[in-house]
Formats: sequence, C-alpha cells, structure tokens
Amino acid sequence: MKNWQEFEMGAVLFPFEKQGQEELGKHNNERAYTTDSSFTASVANWRVEKPVHNKDVCINCFNCWVYCPDASILSREGKMSGIDYEHCKGCGVCVDVCPTNPKSLLMFDNLEPVEEALTKWPQKAEGLKKKSYRTEGGYNGF
Ligand code: SF4
Ligand code: SF4
Repeated sequence: MKNWQEFEMGAVLFPFEKQGQEELGKHNNERAYTTDSSFTASVANWRVEKPVHNKDVCINCFNCWVYCPDASILSREGKMSGIDYEHCKGCGVCVDVCPTNPKSLLMFDNLEPVEEALTKWPQKAEGLKKKSYRTEGGYNGF
C-alpha cells in the first residue's frame, strides 16, 4: 500500500474485496476487508477517551452507527450491541449525535473500566428543551 503522501488527490480506497452490498449484509467480523481499508489499518491507538454505551438508556435509533467515521458501532439482532474498541479512535461524534436524555453514549477516560463508567451515569436532566435534529443538532443537554 502507498503511504498517504503518494496517493492522488481524491483517491478512493475500496474497503471490500468483493461487492460492497454483499459484504454489508454480514457482521463486521465476517466481511472480506481489503488490506488498504481502515479495518486492517486501525487508528484506535489515537484514542485518549472512549465512548461507553449504556443499553438501559439506548433506544436503538442507530444515529451513532450512521455517523461513526470508523464503523465502530456494533449491532446484533437489530440492536446496538456496543463499541468496537479495536477500531474506535475516540472522536466522540457518536456521543454528540445520541438523542436520549441522559445520553446513551458518554466519553470516559480510555483507562476507565466500562463497568465503573456505567455506575457514574447521570440521571435524566429536567427542563431540557427538545431541539430539531435538522437545524439544531438534537438535545442541547448534558
Ligand atoms: S468515538 Fe468516534 S470512532 Fe469511536 S465509536 Fe464514536 S464515532 Fe466511532
Ligand atoms: S445514538 Fe444513542 S440511542 Fe441511538 S442507537 Fe446510538 S447509543 Fe442508542
């Protein structure tokens, strides 16, 4: 694989060895990724904070799945099932777009055990005005 300075501007790296639609129907650990994809060239070592998922608050809207730039939101049987920490770079976009109150994803120090993070979850904040997703980015809370 070329290093990044050698790519032509606007170059596209195809993530799958086979047809993308065929591969997208499979779980992430079963797909035939190319060696040039971010699946094999993980940037998880950039992470200083990690998102933690609280399934007790999650409404399975999959906003986080749509917006995650590294396809690190995992799902099983139609529900969000957690974070792929082998690939998550800790950008926090998933937390920003989560619409619940309190949020179902929150950032914690990368070294914080998930079980401990879950014991520190905030309560529902009262008096938050619900905003439009399209114009104002969801809840302006937490
Ligand atoms: S922190 Fe960023 S990379 Fe990690 S799961 Fe959330 S959106 Fe994806
Ligand atoms: S955006 Fe929040 S509520 Fe929606 S699936 Fe993700 S964690 Fe759950």
